[in-house]
Amino acid sequence: MRISLSEVIVSGGTGKKTDVPLEAEKFLFGGIEYAYAKKSPVHIELNYISSKSVRFKAEGSFELEAECSRCLKPVMLPFEINTDTILVLNDDGRACTKDDDELLEYVEDRELDVDGFVNEEIMIGFPMQVLCGEDCKGLCPVCGADLNKGECGCDRVVLDPRMSKIRDLFLQDKEV
Ligand SMILES: [Zn+2]
Ligand SMILES: [Zn+2]
Repeated sequence: MRISLSEVIVSGGTGKKTDVPLEAEKFLFGGIEYAYAKKSPVHIELNYISSKSVRFKAEGSFELEAECSRCLKPVMLPFEINTDTILVLNDDGRACTKDDDELLEYVEDRELDVDGFVNEEIMIGFPMQVLCGEDCKGLCPVCGADLNKGECGCDRVVLDPRMSKIRDLFLQDKEV
């Protein structure tokens, strides 16, 4: 849903408070679709500051269904959005924030696209690597067993690139 910022500016002191449901069912990132397991309405507060600036507050909590990149177990990724910033509008109807003059993707024609905003916030907070736990041992590359549940007994030395590097160093030492 898009919210008019001109309306807030024209209204002057009154401002606007509204709960906006997120329209997207999925979050797309790095070519992968993550379904929303939970999405609260986005609580938005807009307040007039000047004819070119609006205070923008937003709150919401979301959860995405993902899977551990090592063992493929389902992982829930929680995101808490809590923004309080000042949007500065330009003559083209786009905006930047008071602290950063890069144009925001989610403001166009003096309208704020709530889905676009949430999308950007989640993108910023998205983990570098989705893991069920920091110490996840992953799956055995030979037999596919979940190594968190126990050792399967396969010989994985050759397949582990870290180990093969150490082995190469060891062999080099021997040649000298
Ligand atoms: Zn895992
Ligand atoms: Zn194995």
